[in-house]
Amino acid sequence: MKIKKFQLNPFSMNCYIYYDEASKDAVIIDPAAFTEDEQKSIMDFTESENLNVKYILNTHGHIDHILGNNFAKNYFKVPLYMHAGDEFMLENSKEQARFFGMDFPDPPPVDNYIDDKTSLQINGTELTFINTPGHSPGSVCIIDHKNKNVFCGDLIFKNSIGRTDLQGGNLNVLISSIKNKLFKVCANDYNLFPGHMESTNVKDERNSNPFLI
Ligand SMILES: [Zn+2]
Repeated sequence: MKIKKFQLNPFSMNCYIYYDEASKDAVIIDPAAFTEDEQKSIMDFTESENLNVKYILNTHGHIDHILGNNFAKNYFKVPLYMHAGDEFMLENSKEQARFFGMDFPDPPPVDNYIDDKTSLQINGTELTFINTPGHSPGSVCIIDHKNKNVFCGDLIFKNSIGRTDLQGGNLNVLISSIKNKLFKVCANDYNLFPGHMESTNVKDERNSNPFLI
């Protein structure tokens, strides 16, 4: 499996395309392109690599992660997945956007709700999901156990954690999600691809993340 990262929108959010080189099957995670140039960079990449994007996945419902859902739905025409716990954020996303001085059309509805039993296939590679609330109620980690890669949204960052002062956030719940959910199913050798900043791994964060010691 290969990973292509795009840093998008005024929030420097990480969008990932996760794809199988042999079959060209792919998923796109948080395709939050804000400008036409950002949209073009995603379209150019998927076209030049001949990718067959099968699913659009949202790690959670904050606007910096969902503001490209319209673009992605219109362009890829495939199902959009998100956890139901964050659906209320789609309903107030226009207010969220205005708060940041942004404007964008109403996001499209979610096609399929993610829960802990959801399983998606990319040419034989299984993606599984765990609900890891704390940053938001419906935050999820997207896990490929075969290749030991985790797309963890804004749950945990390199040497940091997601903010917990937004609607539905809770620090104790977030720390518990990291220690008792993510670290329970993902050993030290798993890579972590967060929603902002650089990638890291379970071992480094377990040993040196100041919020977890
Ligand atoms: Zn967020």
